[in-house]
Amino acid sequence: MRYSGFKVLMEGLTGNKGWKPVWREPDPKPDYDIIIVGGGGHGLATAYYLAKEFGEKRVAVLEKGWIGSGNIGRNTTIIRSNYLLKGNQPFYEKSLKMWEDLEQDFNYNAMVSQRGILNLIHNDPQRDAFVRRGNGMHLSGADAVLLDEKGIREMCPFLDFKNARFPIRGGLWQPRGGTVRHDAVAWGYARGADERGVDIIQNCEVTGFDIQDGVCTGVQTSRGAIKAKKVAVCVAGSSSRVMAQAGMRLPIESCVLQAFVTEGLKPVLPGVITFGAGHFYVSQSDKGGLVFGGDIDAYNTYAQRGNLPVVEDVCEGGMAVMPMIGRARLLRMWGGIMDMSMDGSPFIDKTHIDGLYFNGGWCYGGFKATPASGYCYAHLLSTDRPHETATAFRLDRFMTGHAIDEKGQGAQPNLH
Ligand SMILES: Cc1cc2nc3c(=O)[nH]c(=O)nc-3n(C[C@H](O)[C@H](O)[C@H](O)COP(=O)(O)OP(=O)(O)OC[C@H]3O[C@@H](n4cnc5c(N)ncnc54)[C@H](O)[C@@H]3O)c2cc1C
Repeated sequence: MRYSGFKVLMEGLTGNKGWKPVWREPDPKPDYDIIIVGGGGHGLATAYYLAKEFGEKRVAVLEKGWIGSGNIGRNTTIIRSNYLLKGNQPFYEKSLKMWEDLEQDFNYNAMVSQRGILNLIHNDPQRDAFVRRGNGMHLSGADAVLLDEKGIREMCPFLDFKNARFPIRGGLWQPRGGTVRHDAVAWGYARGADERGVDIIQNCEVTGFDIQDGVCTGVQTSRGAIKAKKVAVCVAGSSSRVMAQAGMRLPIESCVLQAFVTEGLKPVLPGVITFGAGHFYVSQSDKGGLVFGGDIDAYNTYAQRGNLPVVEDVCEGGMAVMPMIGRARLLRMWGGIMDMSMDGSPFIDKTHIDGLYFNGGWCYGGFKATPASGYCYAHLLSTDRPHETATAFRLDRFMTGHAIDEKGQGAQPNLH
């Protein structure tokens, strides 16, 4: 079924009786060409591009819960491509370009809103670093604008310019950054993949891998064994646990990241704003709520809930940069499990086991990567070659000395 304004109008006039379920509920078949483990944003996008762009016909996505129950439905919805290093920047710029066409591509309203993202600058060395970053962005064709204090005052008069512990001196503004309705992304990809014959199997947990003589031939699941020529793992915060079933130890630790939403307010924020002297970022949803977050809870856990010290820390960050946020009432908060890699950058790679592939290590920035990650993973699975924008995301990069340390903070996931 093709969605359009005309279709909505016609259904409205005829009692909304013509809508159909958006994806099927198939039982697992005994074997597939490609099995994707994990029905989050990246897994569903991979399935969609495998079917649409690479002509793969026998693909299944196995999801232990329901699709959208993981981080794809828990994130703060920010998209951007303001990266510096050449291992990362072209990949994230590809992703941002794909966001720009996504809704037409999969015929689903994902509320892509390029309202811009602003990184605040508080001192001279930080300005130097952001100038360098902006130049790096220009080199890959991305947009970046350096604003001075006057420019920030005009754009965000509500920020604390009078009495701030860390005075605001300017900012790096990416106009094409913004927000996207996160769960609609999962639904849009699921619908597009299902339409092209992908089996999306919910309530199907992968509990083991069938590996013989160094070759992965299928998976064990809570709904029985399923054979596959290729198995593609894509389970975000569960990466270490799932890959341990294949005997692999990953350079990834899992931590919780929390998100917060206030009551609905009149439009006040021009776009996404990030505090440069602490860890706090905020945007405003289309319903009016301020959506914000900050640091991860810096201990390792697989629990999807966080603790109070980080709540206090995030709220302090908000108060330090925009004291008016103290008047807003908090409505909801939740946590998601982050797959924190040792250098803050992801993996899209084959493993040493033939037929077993891995995508993960997205830390708290994997939502914006969803389209490019899905496309590049599909490219790798279908052609057995990495996509040109994802050649650096290798599992052996710590052995070969090719870490992609975007923040320059070393192997300390809680600082990335
Ligand atoms: C609070 C918060 C805020 C964030 N904000 C942003 C942001 O603003 N911008 C941004 O770019 N990124 C953000 N992120 C990060 C982003 O959400 C993640 O990096 C990204 O969603 C991870 O990829 P995914 O969507 O595939 O993960 P998920 O949706 O978590 O998908 C993984 C799936 O695997 C399934 N699974 C696990 N184990 C198994 C198994 N054994 N068998 C079968 N299935 C299994 C899980 O149930 C889950 O559905 C944020 C994350 C959180 C938690």
